[in-house]
Amino acid sequence: MDKINIMMIGAHPDDCDFRCGGTAIKYLRSGCRVMFLSMTNGCNGHHLDFGSALASRRREETGAAAKLLGIDYRVLDIPDGSLTAELRYRDMLMREIRAFMPDVIITHRSNDYHPDHRSAGTLVTDCSYLVMVPGITADSPPLKKAPFIFYMTDSFTFPAPFTPDAVVAVDDVLEEKTALLNCHASQVYEWLPWVEGYSQEVPPAGEGAKRLSWLKDRIKNMDAPGDTCRELLIKRYGRGKGAAVTCCESFQLCEYGARGDAKKITELFP
Ligand SMILES: [Zn+2]
Repeated sequence: MDKINIMMIGAHPDDCDFRCGGTAIKYLRSGCRVMFLSMTNGCNGHHLDFGSALASRRREETGAAAKLLGIDYRVLDIPDGSLTAELRYRDMLMREIRAFMPDVIITHRSNDYHPDHRSAGTLVTDCSYLVMVPGITADSPPLKKAPFIFYMTDSFTFPAPFTPDAVVAVDDVLEEKTALLNCHASQVYEWLPWVEGYSQEVPPAGEGAKRLSWLKDRIKNMDAPGDTCRELLIKRYGRGKGAAVTCCESFQLCEYGARGDAKKITELFP
């Protein structure tokens, strides 16, 4: 594939890893340039620890993830739970986008349970056209062309369900995706099990191999293709291979930003 620039923009310092981690690994293998950006510092994503102590723990976690992938993982110092679609944050995001010059941006949809996710999605779409307008945030040079914007998957249905336009099989990078999420121990072994009520299932901290295998099973469940993804997988990889895929990540084209037909969309993914 063409050596393009891909910017994955999440609200929290694990969103990109969860929803696009496998795709990021495959982009990197194809020689593309990838960066992750977290719009907030994740300082409230824990039940025991919060504030600056948690923000610095999460900075270490993103640092480990960045090292593992060999990418730049930027974390903006906006408090977790406080992201709103306001001008000062749009300006910050605009500068980040213009500095990286992405061909493709992947972010949240703006209908989502978490206000930070909604705001991140809104801020990205607010930038979609303005990144090319020289007078807006005039201290950073405008982009010459609009990036393609895709949404990462979610399960929300109102006012419209997530409808994938592109799928990437990630069976072949499942070990690496597991290692990537393993960097976010505060989330995958502590906060998410606590808040979602399955803490008792998590293997103890001293049992690293058991933890990894448990995490891999969770990722397998999360990335199991539904019917619409299966159709796209068969279209992309052929009947035999497409039917056999057990894990995939999927993306929906946003109608703002660059536009493309099904062929162009497929070419944009590894
Ligand atoms: Zn999040």
